[in-house]
Amino acid sequence: MAILVFGGAGYIGSHTVYELVDAGRDVVIADNLETGHIEAVHPKAKFYQGDIRSREFVDSVFEAEKIDGVIHFAANSLVGESMTNPLKYYDNNLCGTKVLLESMVAHGIDKIVFSSTAATYGEPERVPILETDRTDPTNCYGETKLSMEKMFKWIGLAHGLRFVSLRYFNACGAHVSGQIGEAHSPETHLIPLILQVPNGQREAISIFGDDYDTKDGTCIRDYIHVTDLAQAHILAMDYLLAGKESNIFNLGNGVGFTVKEVIDTARKVTGHPIPAKITPRRAGDPAQLIASSEKAKSVLGWNPQHADLEEIIASAWNWHKNHPHGFAK
Ligand code: UDP
Repeated sequence: MAILVFGGAGYIGSHTVYELVDAGRDVVIADNLETGHIEAVHPKAKFYQGDIRSREFVDSVFEAEKIDGVIHFAANSLVGESMTNPLKYYDNNLCGTKVLLESMVAHGIDKIVFSSTAATYGEPERVPILETDRTDPTNCYGETKLSMEKMFKWIGLAHGLRFVSLRYFNACGAHVSGQIGEAHSPETHLIPLILQVPNGQREAISIFGDDYDTKDGTCIRDYIHVTDLAQAHILAMDYLLAGKESNIFNLGNGVGFTVKEVIDTARKVTGHPIPAKITPRRAGDPAQLIASSEKAKSVLGWNPQHADLEEIIASAWNWHKNHPHGFAK
């Protein structure tokens, strides 16, 4: 029996596959390679190229393979793009998940681990954020992820499916081997954009607003290493395989860093002055997002191993300096 990783050629998906393979699991990957990379597909995983919105494709994977459970990463995930092109997000994220669930129900596959996000909370009532806190997304990306969580709940009630939703805070860093890492085109995330400066691809990093109500006026985020996120998916799948009930967990380090602090740490790691300039706020950005991950620690036994921001940025730098154009040669 295998685990199907939908979106297993993407950033967090590929790191999860690497951890699953290292843990001796059989892995099947499905990915349309729209934002994922064939080079990120683990050589020991079986790979199917296709789109989650195609019922025919999803059915064909479940018919060809014996699948125990699904880990679902196949979605668009850019806050800015979701504000200018929300229909793309409704189509891929919600319609895609609907097709996947239809096929899972038809094939009697009843376990799914799902990548959700801190963006489901919107502007938090308080930090650190608990899973029971208000969810009121400030961007369409978060809205589609929250709607996906609700789909799982209702489909679960009707058809006996169980799910674990993992609400990630800011995923970053790269695999210790240096073989896989973050490679988006266009890149929109803070740490890879900062590292484009010492890589000679960008003159300066833009700071999106310094008039937030935070200690230095820039946004605060909780940065969590992608390998720690990957480990949480294995624990979540084991939790479902052990017959436990549907659940939602935050995944973060519980420590917030401002944009300026992240840039300073990158200066220290790279030894480059990394010039920065203040630009207007980006639409849909809450001032601060910091996780309480106590529930994941106590219920799943999750124990992040790479919590130090310097170590996280050093692992990202190790990837980006050796792969300045991502997976492209
Ligand atoms: N950010 C920034 N400059 C950039 C990219 C991002 O100041 O060039 C800020 C962004 O406003 C947010 C934080 O960095 O406060 C993290 O943004 P990212 O896009 O990496 O992740 P998100 O929080 O949107 O998931």
